[in-house]
Amino acid sequence: LSASDLVEAHRICVCVRKRPLSKQEVKKKEIDVVSVRGKGAVLVHEPKQKVDLTKYLDNQVFQFDYCFDETSTNDLVYRFTAKPLVQSIFEGAMATCFAYGQTGRGKTHVSLTMGGDFTGKLQNSSKGIYALAQDVFALLSQRRYASWDLCPYVSFFEIYKGKVGIMDSVTLKNQVQVVGLQEEYVSSVEEVIKMIEMGSTCRTSGQTSANANSSRSHAVLQIALRCSDRAKTLHGKFSLVDLAGNERGTDVSCNDRSTLVETAEINRSLLALTECIRSLGRNSDHIPFRMSTLTKVLRDSFIGEKSRTCMIATVSPGMASCDYTMNTLRYFLVFFHF
Ligand code: ADP
Ligand code: MG
Repeated sequence: LSASDLVEAHRICVCVRKRPLSKQEVKKKEIDVVSVRGKGAVLVHEPKQKVDLTKYLDNQVFQFDYCFDETSTNDLVYRFTAKPLVQSIFEGAMATCFAYGQTGRGKTHVSLTMGGDFTGKLQNSSKGIYALAQDVFALLSQRRYASWDLCPYVSFFEIYKGKVGIMDSVTLKNQVQVVGLQEEYVSSVEEVIKMIEMGSTCRTSGQTSANANSSRSHAVLQIALRCSDRAKTLHGKFSLVDLAGNERGTDVSCNDRSTLVETAEINRSLLALTECIRSLGRNSDHIPFRMSTLTKVLRDSFIGEKSRTCMIATVSPGMASCDYTMNTLRYFLVFFHF
């Protein structure tokens, strides 16, 4: 089965990626409780306690389209998840790839950069986003797509506290940071990378107990293909979404109002996303994209016969994170059963 067959077979491809234990976790002698079995199963050894207080491990198996273990490279994950979707936008499809998980589990690592400690410059070894941009330009130069005369346009923006400049320019307030307000024509891989570097430096981040650089915003990178000879009609579009950390309200140690509002908004948009993807999976006529800004912005990706979605859950292997990991995997099961 090729990567392309894998994704084509599913309108929604659901994957899990386990990251390795971090240096700090190894130092703290953290125990790895997540094992990937075969290509599509992941096992969680959940620590539990009997009534008589004896401890035991409860093994839970989850089945998904693809499970990537800690040895999987960004390049491999890319080939099985985003790459086939990139090809599909040349066939006129709308494609969306989401990275979902708690802060510090590897969302940004898998979606936008090679290193999550991202401070503006993509590392030289970067593969993920380079590979994507390279594939777009490589396919553009192929003869079979030449007759469409396609031009690539890129936009990169964030949705923070339910606001994004493109849609809410009238109510634009200080707390809103809009990076790529407009779609820009791009002529090279370097131009795409430059936009992402600029945008990522501006990305809103708050302080939570989970991670000092936690991302409290959804980052959206879109590559639209427009037909230059047909009044710039949209041919296909790829959206890469680095979702805000799905921390639960109680995890946020900071009690200030603005942080609570932020968390509530993130939870609301993640719920809206679930509803939309579920309706999409059911081939429902009504997709509730109006439930949140995130789903409103992605509206055109949810409609249409040819829309394709890939969801990647990022999880930590550590025993201390076991509750979160179980939550994330249970949440993802909903998408898998379509
Ligand atoms: P998130 O975006 O979910 O908050 P990051 O992508 O920033 O998390 O990752 C947190 C840290 O873990 C970063 O230092 C990153 O380099 C590292 N990391 C994440 N996933 C992996 C992986 N698969 N392999 C190696 N390091 C990883
Ligand atoms: Mg991140």
